[in-house]
Amino acid sequence: MKSEQLTRLYRQQLQDFELAKKNYTNLEQVIYRKIPFRNFPVRLQYNPSRILSTNAKIDAQTLATRKCFLCPDYRPEQQKGIPYGKDYHIFVNPYPIFPCHFTVPSNWHEPQCITGHFSTMLDLAIDFPEYIIFYNGPDCGASAPDHFHFQMAPRGSMPLETDICCEELCQKVVERDFFSISMLQNYLRKVIVLQASDAHLVSVLFQQVLALIGQVTPYEKEPMINLLCWFDNCQWQVCLFPRQTRRPWQFYAEGEEKILFSPGCVDMAGLIIAPRKEDFEKYSADLLTDLFQQVTISAEKEERIKIQLQKITV
Ligand SMILES: [Zn+2]
Repeated sequence: MKSEQLTRLYRQQLQDFELAKKNYTNLEQVIYRKIPFRNFPVRLQYNPSRILSTNAKIDAQTLATRKCFLCPDYRPEQQKGIPYGKDYHIFVNPYPIFPCHFTVPSNWHEPQCITGHFSTMLDLAIDFPEYIIFYNGPDCGASAPDHFHFQMAPRGSMPLETDICCEELCQKVVERDFFSISMLQNYLRKVIVLQASDAHLVSVLFQQVLALIGQVTPYEKEPMINLLCWFDNCQWQVCLFPRQTRRPWQFYAEGEEKILFSPGCVDMAGLIIAPRKEDFEKYSADLLTDLFQQVTISAEKEERIKIQLQKITV
């Protein structure tokens, strides 16, 4: 399967699927602004139609009583997808952040949990090298934590992709013949970057790194992470953001102090989605530093992971 098939699906859905047509047309109106930090930028997108996702209620009762929008029985009739392998379908995401924003749900109503699905992420990245594949953990931005899904965004949409190439930011923690592990320094949030060109090796590394993260992050269904992957320069690039909390205190505040910041992969990757105008205008370097500090792991925990990473053998 090639990216042209996705482009064809996208064009067809923009003609036949009213909700997608409306929201992708609205997407042309979103406003951007940039906040520069020393060695990287953070981009902001004011996007009112994302209010449902940012504000999504995912408590057990809500999930038990709603109709799952990723299940075949409850998907909009006009939404058509293409099968991917025997276990997944690819759909145009009707609530886009980017043009050509896709969702890749499992064919079964099974919980958001990366175990058993990671190799599919690698397959998607190599089959669609023009896209970044991403996965929000069940308590880290997923608005359907009860139904497994990836998302796909066009390459070049998020600052992370160029940030990991910046020498001032990127610190190699492990460098071997067939793989490397890096961490970005002074980057507001903590991130671990795996690079390797052998799929089995990437999978083994990923499992080991996930287990290490699990030693320092809250761990319920799985260690709290946001995960992004793409294929570039003949290698998989896998970025893991270990998380401390789902949302900062400001999310739950009332009045002036309230900020609808409920970050997922896209926000962690440097593109902050602001569904409310007041938040979009309020964001500053100091505020972002505070918000990210709350949702990412501490420097002390990062150091503990780093020491363990240096001992990794595969
Ligand atoms: Zn479902």
